[in-house]
Amino acid sequence: MKKWYQVRCNACGNVTIDLADVRIGEYVGSCNVCHEGLLQRIASFSFTRGMKPHFNTAVGGYVESKRQMDDKLKALSDRDSVRTGTTQTYERVDMRESAALGVSDEGLDATRKRRREAGLDHPTKKTII
Ligand SMILES: [Zn+2]
Repeated sequence: MKKWYQVRCNACGNVTIDLADVRIGEYVGSCNVCHEGLLQRIASFSFTRGMKPHFNTAVGGYVESKRQMDDKLKALSDRDSVRTGTTQTYERVDMRESAALGVSDEGLDATRKRRREAGLDHPTKKTII
């Protein structure tokens, strides 16, 4: 679940969204519109990504919601626990949530270098500051 923060410039009143985690009333930075005011957090909200109805190969069936997916995974866990004699616990993982998958940027530079050396990627022409 991602949290978003609504911030307002104390000079021009422009309202925008920011990801900085601060308390309501605290300032997160300067305004990108007027360049004079400071952005003050006025609200926060979060959202959970929904699940579109689809055929899921992991459960071998059609699922219409996260709850239904979890129920099917629980049933498969129970079935496979009995079948294998060891506890099986299947959990839903959102492939878009890199943190849940344990993915980080570690080693990314070395991977990019190897891909360039192998001719799989072309070097960027952008100047990275
Ligand atoms: Zn402003």
